[in-house]
Amino acid sequence: MALTGMQIYKLLPKTNCKECGLPTCMAFAMQVAAKQKSLTDCPPVSDEAKAALSEASTPPMKLVKVGPSGKQFEIGQETVMFRHDEKFHRPCGIAVRIPASLSDDEAIAKCELINGSVFQRVGETLKVELAAVEVDGCDNPVSRVKSIADKSNVPLILIGKDASIMKDACEAVKDVYPLIYRADASNIDVFIEIASSMKLPLAVTGSSLEELSDLTQKAKDKGVEDMILSFGSEDLGDTVRSLTITRRASLRKNFRPFGYPAMVEIKAENSNDETVIASAFAAKYAGIVIVDNTEPWELLTIMTVVQNVYTDPQVPNTVEAKLYEIGNPDENSPVMFTTNFSLTYFSVESEVERSKVPTYICVVDTEGLGVLNAYAGDKISAEKVVKTIQEQKVAEKVKHKKLIIPGLLPIFRAEIEDTSEWSEVLIGPEKAREIPAFLTNTWKS
Ligand code: SF4
Repeated sequence: MALTGMQIYKLLPKTNCKECGLPTCMAFAMQVAAKQKSLTDCPPVSDEAKAALSEASTPPMKLVKVGPSGKQFEIGQETVMFRHDEKFHRPCGIAVRIPASLSDDEAIAKCELINGSVFQRVGETLKVELAAVEVDGCDNPVSRVKSIADKSNVPLILIGKDASIMKDACEAVKDVYPLIYRADASNIDVFIEIASSMKLPLAVTGSSLEELSDLTQKAKDKGVEDMILSFGSEDLGDTVRSLTITRRASLRKNFRPFGYPAMVEIKAENSNDETVIASAFAAKYAGIVIVDNTEPWELLTIMTVVQNVYTDPQVPNTVEAKLYEIGNPDENSPVMFTTNFSLTYFSVESEVERSKVPTYICVVDTEGLGVLNAYAGDKISAEKVVKTIQEQKVAEKVKHKKLIIPGLLPIFRAEIEDTSEWSEVLIGPEKAREIPAFLTNTWKS
């Protein structure tokens, strides 16, 4: 039975030493009770406490780390089936396959494409998280994995079924802590030996869920701690069902053989299908999806799904309401305002950056609503805008009295001009993408 935070607290050292990264033992106990921390995160805990707490405090889904210290990809330790119950904690990572059929030069070129697949969206950096190197069928598997390990900015997955080839490949790059994929009933004993002797994470697949649970239990019994449940994508519905069943068994029933994050290797006939299938699994419940393509339109589509699914539904999607200085503005720079809905703010910010016109952006607290919704919901008014600009001391930053307002709120113009020192209100564009032209043409003129 799960223990309460107080029951766990009683068994902790109660020194508040902070080695666990939390300010107090009580805070740590609460996180252990919520399955967000493991007892192993408390170095001073006694063996007696460990014995008493180990089973009850072990998160139902293991946290698995792939890659060397400093650039690890972490997945797992999820706690809920549905995002509205709490939130999903560790976003699904995209792995891009480097096929064995590529020449060495082509493989390095693909690795560099993976390294360069980094995007900014709504204030977050999105990137390909892993490179999945096919080993079976490669002419020179050891030098292939070594050269990719040298060039790659991201952790590796090594894909192969031939145990002797995989053993040599893993040995060559074990220092970068790759994920070994794919262990199945035909090679499980040797793959267990590789994973346990080199302390590497192991991705296991089965022809049925029963077989998969037998294989992970066997690996666990023989000392493999970090595992990932892996699935194919041939039958979309079947795989979604398997992902759901294994997650439910882990989180609701504490069924240990399925207490690991999941991965889906996508096999699709074309990029369009791959995008749709990968997005479906990223939404429910894959921790890693392996794809082939590096086209930005495909990667960004999947990343956008992941980003949306993994936002915290209990926290408004907002930025801090304050004055933002974009591009070192000075006393002659334009001043504009927008709302604190993060999607609105980052759209405005990125377009101001694109314009290369240094600008002050005054962010008004609208409780996370965009411009029109805030106006409709009475979360923004001309009076509130004037008050915010005063509080943020914007007038002290510039020597002019011109204020650019969103094109969706022209109705604010007269009131702001009449009731504040901002005597010249310019009605800006309705759409963020029109900001560069506005700043370059209207403002500068
Ligand atoms: Fe308390 Fe352990 Fe955290 Fe130290 S590391 S504050 S003893 S829970």
